[in-house]
Amino acid sequence: MMKSITEPSRETPVLMETEVLVVGSGPAGLTAAIASARTGAKTVLLERYGCFGGVLTQVGVESFAWYRHEGTEDCEGIGREYERRAKELGFTRPEPQSTSEVLDTEGFKYVADRMIVEAGVTPLLHSQVVDVIMEDGTLKGVIVEGKSGRQAVLAERIVDCTGDADVAFKAGAPYTKREKNSLMGVTVMFNCAGVHVERFNKFVEEELKPTYADWGKNWDVITDKKEDDLFSPYMEEIFTRAHEEGVIPGDAGAIAGTWSTFTETGEALQLNMVYAFGFDCTDVLDVTRAEIEGRQQAIWAIDALRHYIPGFENARLRNFGMTLGTRESRLIDGKARVVKDYVLNQGRCDDSIGIFPEFIDGSGYLILPTTGRYYQIPFGCLVPQKVENLIVAGRCISADVIGHTSMRNMMCCAVTGQGAGTAAALAAKNSVSFNALNIAELQSTLKEQGVRVD
Ligand SMILES: Cc1cc2nc3c(=O)[nH]c(=O)nc-3n(C[C@H](O)[C@H](O)[C@H](O)COP(=O)(O)OP(=O)(O)OC[C@H]3O[C@@H](n4cnc5c(N)ncnc54)[C@H](O)[C@@H]3O)c2cc1C
Repeated sequence: MMKSITEPSRETPVLMETEVLVVGSGPAGLTAAIASARTGAKTVLLERYGCFGGVLTQVGVESFAWYRHEGTEDCEGIGREYERRAKELGFTRPEPQSTSEVLDTEGFKYVADRMIVEAGVTPLLHSQVVDVIMEDGTLKGVIVEGKSGRQAVLAERIVDCTGDADVAFKAGAPYTKREKNSLMGVTVMFNCAGVHVERFNKFVEEELKPTYADWGKNWDVITDKKEDDLFSPYMEEIFTRAHEEGVIPGDAGAIAGTWSTFTETGEALQLNMVYAFGFDCTDVLDVTRAEIEGRQQAIWAIDALRHYIPGFENARLRNFGMTLGTRESRLIDGKARVVKDYVLNQGRCDDSIGIFPEFIDGSGYLILPTTGRYYQIPFGCLVPQKVENLIVAGRCISADVIGHTSMRNMMCCAVTGQGAGTAAALAAKNSVSFNALNIAELQSTLKEQGVRVD
């Protein structure tokens, strides 16, 4: 057992009181806060880092909707507003494998700031939730720590959008977390400068000719077959070769993956090429190791790119993502649970808060929504068991492995965020628990906000 000490009890100042508190500002939390404020609730959005956006801005994942094809039946709502707003402000570029545009990860920090200010959300950055305030199974607030010390934020309803379900976990809500060797891999994302883009594009078009079928060369991937011949910006074999030929010294097993866009000044962005397994991001020792090992793998990946790939001869590291990227950790055990068969059979439900196309990327599956198939997202998978006043959105909602792999995508996190934020505002306004919320009112409010619920 780990050695422990007893801390003295203390008085903790209350920094803020609000109707709705959203913890975490990724695609889910940012959207939840905007939706809550637009529904008329006094709303605070609290974030541990210095910018809003979660994985998008903090890890550097620009491909917000890379699943979109001509036949895709897509969701609507605040997630689509992000795309429109970023485009208006000049922060998008065409995404290479879909009909979408990427969201510039630096520019989106500004887009998020503007949308929060305009919605009237009270922002609180550099504040990490470290504990919860509970009274008889009811969540009353959270304890945050930052440069101002240890403070409390009290709220009538709380939306947990931490990705790791930190609030739900601290509050004692039941959850599932797979054994760490089964969790999806973690990634140190990196960007390069000094790339000769024209030469690289010529190599891709004339020699590499990558398709989604390449994904399955070294590992098992189940597709619909309809994906196999589509272009995918993916490479894998050069890294194995680099190891065999001694270009990179270490095991290249974690290196393979995708690139995204290039800028006119020769930057290659979102190099998603380090995929390391066996790390639990809720364990600080694991994340410490993953950050350091991930950066080593990224440097080796750049060595291999420089050696073998036309256009990358003079490439150099521009930056790493500001933090490690985590795909999977805790998933709450909610009132409902989205499972593989539901996603793959166009699941429908009475308590839908939005739709998401039939899109699965990871955990051995690659299904792209090219044919218009979609499923509805049940409100019940946002509602945790045993804890009152709490609702959850984003990648930690209640799902099995494949349900999670689909719903973890950023646009879907925005859909669950909008559902949760709107529900929290209505629950606070009507003084009802999430379990007793009027679903018809929630759905009609979402529809008024432009969400497609059926
Ligand atoms: C490397 C990588 C590549 C990916 N590629 C894609 C892709 O191409 N397209 C796609 O759609 N999806 C992709 N995903 C998945 C997607 O980015 C995530 O699943 C999604 O961002 C999850 O959104 P979220 O809002 O639930 O959580 P996050 O985006 O993780 O946001 C959580 C927020 O909560 C904050 N936070 C956490 N704990 C606390 C705390 N205790 N106190 C205060 N704040 C806290 C974090 O700082 C963060 O801002 C990728 C993920 C990774 C890691």
